Order: sequence, then structure tokens, then C-alpha cells
Amino acid sequence: MSRKIVHLDMDCFYAAIEVRDHPHYKGKPVGVGGESGRGVLTTANYEARKFGCRSAMPVFKAKQLCPHLILTPIRFEVYRKESRRIRKIFARYTDLIEPISLDEAYLDLSYRRESGAAVAGEIRKAIFDETGLTASAGIAPNKMLAKIASDWNKPDGQLEIGLQDVEAFMRGLRIGKIPGVGQRGLSTLAKMGVQTCGDLQKYAKAELVGHLGRWGLELYDRCRGRDDREVLVDRIRKSLSKEKTFRENIHDVEWLIQILRGLMEEVQKSVATHKDQRIKSRFIKLKFEDFSQTTAEKSGSQIDEMVFVDLLRIAWNRGQGKSVRLLGVGIKFTSEQDQLEFL
Ligand SMILES: [Mg+2]
Repeated sequence: MSRKIVHLDMDCFYAAIEVRDHPHYKGKPVGVGGESGRGVLTTANYEARKFGCRSAMPVFKAKQLCPHLILTPIRFEVYRKESRRIRKIFARYTDLIEPISLDEAYLDLSYRRESGAAVAGEIRKAIFDETGLTASAGIAPNKMLAKIASDWNKPDGQLEIGLQDVEAFMRGLRIGKIPGVGQRGLSTLAKMGVQTCGDLQKYAKAELVGHLGRWGLELYDRCRGRDDREVLVDRIRKSLSKEKTFRENIHDVEWLIQILRGLMEEVQKSVATHKDQRIKSRFIKLKFEDFSQTTAEKSGSQIDEMVFVDLLRIAWNRGQGKSVRLLGVGIKFTSEQDQLEFL
């Protein structure tokens, strides 16, 4: 049975929120971020894109291209809140939601009887009615095609690629539209005479592997519109921790505190790569000489040495003098469910 996958993508999300919240920006070029004059833009609205402004572009360059560009500071809290509202709308239609970022998600609607395009249209209308923001959607039998399709009629549009359309659609598709084919891939493929997916289809599997290695195998399927990846509901991390198992058991809590500092720094670094998630608690895990283990946890969002040291002492005391063979330091993120409950 063919699947119904929808890729929902908000239209220049951060910039659209800023324009909505500052009505006098409407119709003017707006860039989000880099207000210090040194940073880079995170998003530009369509008016700014007409001048060539792009996300990740240094602000000074954007200003050269578009001297009247309005720069607004990043307000992550506001974007997160809108993102939660939007996911709550998704949840009315399916449980199978894979958020990719604050402004993008895959939905699996296979078990619904209505057409994917009809549901996608309803979702986009609900988003607009409830947040004033526009979204684009791609509807297709798999994730890759849905993602390509959501970009097709942007902004505020959608495209459905039916199973019967896939072959013709892929044949004419520019190879650069395949997610993961970047500038370097494009130039390699250009040397092989490949401009479209149809061109690539003429290569045998073994030839592609010869030219491109493992990536060739993936492209062999992708250029035919094939993609079996599931919609991953639990993609968002629930927790993050760093652990150390000792060669010899440790009998001294002060020594454990020294080790804790190093682990805490590692946790801090990893957390920095999950900026769009919020920490709800901190924990310490100890495994004792007899392999029993205990976890001490405290709510709160700061990665604070005092808190971890307190937790370590609490966990240590539970061991009643047993030596320790493993120390873990970690945090838990708010789950989607928690986030919905904030509303
Ligand atoms: Mg987007």
C-alpha cells in the first residue's frame, strides 16, 4: 500500500513572525539576527530575498545588497512558542509526527481515509487562521518526494506527487533538487554529464558506486524517487548524558567531584547543539561496586556545578560507603508532551 507522507514547512518562519508582530514591517525587506552588525542573518523574508539576502549571509553583505534592510533581533522564545502551537495543530490530524526543526516536520497520514492533499490544505488553513503564518506542504508516497514537493509552490502553496506521477516527475527533475546534493556533488555529477535525475538513471548501480562510492547507492534509489525511510516519531532527544566507567572503583567522593567537572563540560558542549530544546532537569547516575545503581535528579534548566555536586552527594550517600564504578552526568529535555502542556 502506498504511504501518504506530508512535509510541512513554514515560510521564512522567524522573519514571518517578526513581520506579523511588527505590522509596520509589512511589505518591507526584513532580516532576523545580527543586529550587532557583525553576525549573520538567520532568516530573510521574501522582500529581502529579492535583493539576494539569504540565511547564513553576513549582515554587512546583506546590508550592501539591500541598504534598507530592517534587522530585528532573534526571539527564540517566541519562535518556540509558535512552533509548539503549530505542532499542536499537527497532532489533531496524526500521532505520527517527525519534527525536523522549529519550522518543519514530516507527518504520516497513511492511515487516514481522506486524500493527503485535502488534509495538508486543512492543516495549512488552521495554521494560518490560528497563528497568522503561512506554511507550504508537499504530499507524496515518501519523505524525499514530500520534501521536494513542499518547496515547489512556496510560499503558501502545496504540491502533491501521486504514485502514478513519480516516474515522469523524477525524469525531468534537476539533480540539485535531491536533498543532500550540494555544490560539490553537483560539480562531480556535472562532470559525469548529469543534469537531471533522468540523466543519472542511465547509470548502472555498479557504475554509480564506482564514481561516487556508497553515496552512489543512495542516489541510485533517490533519482528514481525511491525512499523507504520511516517517519520517526521519537527523533527529538529526551535526554543527554556523559558517563565514565572507572578501571578501578572509586572510594572518595571528592575525587568523583573532580571527574564530574569534566563530564559536565562535555554535557554542556552537547547541549549547545540542541538549541531548540529546553532542559527540564539535571541528574547524576552512580553505579556501585555491586552493580546496583541510583539516580538523583533535580528540576531546573541551568547546567550548574553546585547542583550536580549536591546531586552527587545525595547519590553517594545512598551507597552507604560502597565504592563507585561508573559516574554519569546528564540532563533531560522537555518532551513534546510537556511542551504542549505549557500552552
Ligand atoms: Mg521553513
